[in-house]
Amino acid sequence: MLKTVKFGGSSLADAQHFSAVRDIVRADGARRIVVVSAPGKRAKGDNKVTDLLYLCHAHIKYGVDHESVLSMIESRYREIAETLSIPFDVAAAFDEIRSRIKTSPDEDYLVSRGEALCAALMAAYLGYDFVDSYGTVKFRLDGRIDLPATYTAIAEAFEASSGRIVMPGFYGTMPGGKLRLMTRGGSDITGALAAAALNCDLYENWTDVPGILMADPSIVPDPQPIPRITYSELRELTYMGAKVLHEESVFPVREMNIPLNIRNTNDPSAPGTMIREEFAEDASQQESYFITGVAGRRGYCIIDIHKNHVSAKLGIVRSVLALFEKHELHIEQIVSGIDCFSLVVSTEAVKPYLFSITEEIESYCGPDSVKVTEGISLIACVGRRMVFRPGISGRLFATLGENNINIRMISQGPEELNIIVGVDDRDYEKTIRVLYNSFTRKDRPL
Ligand code: ASP
Repeated sequence: MLKTVKFGGSSLADAQHFSAVRDIVRADGARRIVVVSAPGKRAKGDNKVTDLLYLCHAHIKYGVDHESVLSMIESRYREIAETLSIPFDVAAAFDEIRSRIKTSPDEDYLVSRGEALCAALMAAYLGYDFVDSYGTVKFRLDGRIDLPATYTAIAEAFEASSGRIVMPGFYGTMPGGKLRLMTRGGSDITGALAAAALNCDLYENWTDVPGILMADPSIVPDPQPIPRITYSELRELTYMGAKVLHEESVFPVREMNIPLNIRNTNDPSAPGTMIREEFAEDASQQESYFITGVAGRRGYCIIDIHKNHVSAKLGIVRSVLALFEKHELHIEQIVSGIDCFSLVVSTEAVKPYLFSITEEIESYCGPDSVKVTEGISLIACVGRRMVFRPGISGRLFATLGENNINIRMISQGPEELNIIVGVDDRDYEKTIRVLYNSFTRKDRPL
């Protein structure tokens, strides 16, 4: 059994968290590949080391004295090393950074030190080998990860190690040898790459929340964590705005059929959320709810195109879609009727072209009328158990009706994985709340 365990910045914020991480790693002998972010905020109002490093670079760039920011960062590492008596020379590491940025103040190099030093410190603390992501995580010239080259390099480095390694997240190497950062939150990707490269049995992503939540906690007070979710459901929820993992981090593990487990560093015995391609839904494992989660996004508009017997006219939908394609506008939903069809698109994206598109529709397609309604939110109820389950949409529509929420659009997603409703922006939060409450009510189970 082999597991990659990735710890986010909030799990590495200070000595106390480092020590909790060591307990977690030691609690399971399979946790032999550790990937770390840079130390995050210790409390509200504190700064993430990565943000301080960006700030430090901005000082250098604009010729402002950067030493106070750099020594603030140094003190974060020194405090961890000294409190836990970790045999690692923090001062020497920062001397090297100082001399390097004197000659080449490269932003990616400087910011990557957040993860690099955290990993070096963690490796010394755990007694694991440090394997640098520089040289093992490889980018292609187009900025995407070169998966075969990365997998080979990580596998070789692991092979050459003691079989217990710590890797820094968030960066890799470009073909010419330049260090390159990933996008923010990229350590999730590094963890997934390591898990896939070593064909791990599990990728554990340790963070500071109890798992993926059934709804946005800033809208629903104390939403319940989702115990089990499929990769497809996760995609739907993430697409509809749920913030969980770095989007690109799912692909490497999903492709290799490796389960991903989101765990809470502050509550290590809790099972967190398990993400798999599919689950065997036997009776003993039945979850209590038919909905896996509710998520939504604001800022859409509905464009209604009316034409008598539009459904019988060939080519009209195609020509309207071609107009959107010309402007590289993505269409979120298409709903059609006998005399009308409607497109749902992002208001922000369509706004600059709205007049020209409406005019083009008028002149090319000869509609009876075109109507644009702005201020629409899309809200999705996602759940693999909805398929063939009568009563789910009935409950959904009844709930919205009982709460005086007007539905502007309805669509059932492919494979009945979700039901999407369009409501006015002003009903956005209320809709999420009432749907969550309705589907998690114990007194009215489905
Ligand atoms: N430390 C980086 C960030 O703050 C990368 C990460 O945490 O994954 O975005």
